Amino acid sequence: MTYSFSNIFHSDCEELLDEFIDKYTSCINTYNDEKAFVVRDYYKNILTILKSGFKKDELLTMFEKLAKYKISLDVPYILMTNEINALKNILISKMSEQEISSNIIHVLALFKEINDKVAYIYLNEYVDELLRLNNLRITSLSDLLEKNIISHYESHLLWLTKLARHIKDEQKDNFPQLNDKLCDFGKWLHSDAKNVIQNNSKFKTIDALHNNLHLFAKKIHSHLGDSEHHIQITYLEKCELISLSIGTELALIDNVIMNKRVTKDTLTGALNRNGLRSVFESQYELSLATNNPFVLALCDLDHFKKINDTHGHIAGDKVLKSFVDVVKKHIRNSDVIVRYGGEEFVIILPAVNKEKGLEALENICRNFEKNTLMFEGKALSATVSIGMMGIKPESAFKSSYIDEYIMIADQKLYTAKKSGRNRVESS
Ligand code: GH3
Ligand code: MG
Ligand code: MG
Repeated sequence: MTYSFSNIFHSDCEELLDEFIDKYTSCINTYNDEKAFVVRDYYKNILTILKSGFKKDELLTMFEKLAKYKISLDVPYILMTNEINALKNILISKMSEQEISSNIIHVLALFKEINDKVAYIYLNEYVDELLRLNNLRITSLSDLLEKNIISHYESHLLWLTKLARHIKDEQKDNFPQLNDKLCDFGKWLHSDAKNVIQNNSKFKTIDALHNNLHLFAKKIHSHLGDSEHHIQITYLEKCELISLSIGTELALIDNVIMNKRVTKDTLTGALNRNGLRSVFESQYELSLATNNPFVLALCDLDHFKKINDTHGHIAGDKVLKSFVDVVKKHIRNSDVIVRYGGEEFVIILPAVNKEKGLEALENICRNFEKNTLMFEGKALSATVSIGMMGIKPESAFKSSYIDEYIMIADQKLYTAKKSGRNRVESS
């Protein structure tokens, strides 16, 4: 079937193209010139086809290519559909102005097809990527040396993989368990989990997340096989997000369990340095499995020698203990503090980005500075310098060796010392 919109274009497509590009492809400014030019060229082709009387297949093919290009640029589905709908609205408003509204019904039908084609392409890409990432997440979990409740997350990830496969094959039969109390993870959640999780509000959060996830899976199931691919992609995206939130909650609870169990430094109550490597490795794998960044910080008390020299070693010991007390008071019980050596400590903040991590560490700095302790009738106080780095699961710099991260944090710590101490420097 062919349509022609020639009468809504005055001279050539450039005018309409400029209007459209300026107003609606907002993310185009974030591309480099070459990428922006490619996107602009696609739309130019699309408008030319629209103007000249076209075969529908030709237009759909052009949108298919554009969608694939957008995916390669990591443009989210929602932005792509916004663009398509903006183009549709421009065409419709031009047609209304020129009182050719009889064609509007064709435009609506045409764009419905375009939208579904694009949704289908995005959905397929999304499912393939989800299958790939889920596999990596499952591998990360199996690499964990110590598994407490996080091991049950594996059965949940397997369920999600099965869901993605059924969507890809548009297969309604033998669908993953839709009842949230009967899937493997749900069975555990409603039996043994309550005792292990202990914290009732955490349990309720996980239960609610898991319940919601199954509601979305039910919606996907009911729409499987119809041509509303946008519904499937929208709900599958929600399923993945919820799934990662469940993983994050479980990983944090695992950390609380680990914090209680691991041997502590007798003077300060921080974790022993012997355990640091395995603690770091598990944080690293958990961050991959749950797609969360985390923060590693190296802390060194300022002019500590002077405290020892002025007030004696026992006073110094008390200051060390007070530092760990202040830190523990201001971090979550899933965060980790390790005595790295003498008056140096490592802090790990799981499921936290660089900005939030910096905030938390600056808060520690300010509170430690204010903290005083009485020793033989004298008020003692000290300050700390901190070097930190945010570690992203997808970062280009990827290593599971803690020494490489410590080295970077140490360089930042050095900067903090050089620039006046009592501060946090972030990489
Ligand atoms: P800077 O601000 O540059 O870090 O100065 P600083 O004096 O803290 O530097 P330095 O690293 O040279 O000093 C650390 C001191 O910490 C030296 C060491 O005697 C003392 N120290 C290490 N472990 C302990 C401990 O367990 N108890 C006490 N009281 N002191 C310790
Ligand atoms: Mg030191
Ligand atoms: Mg020091």
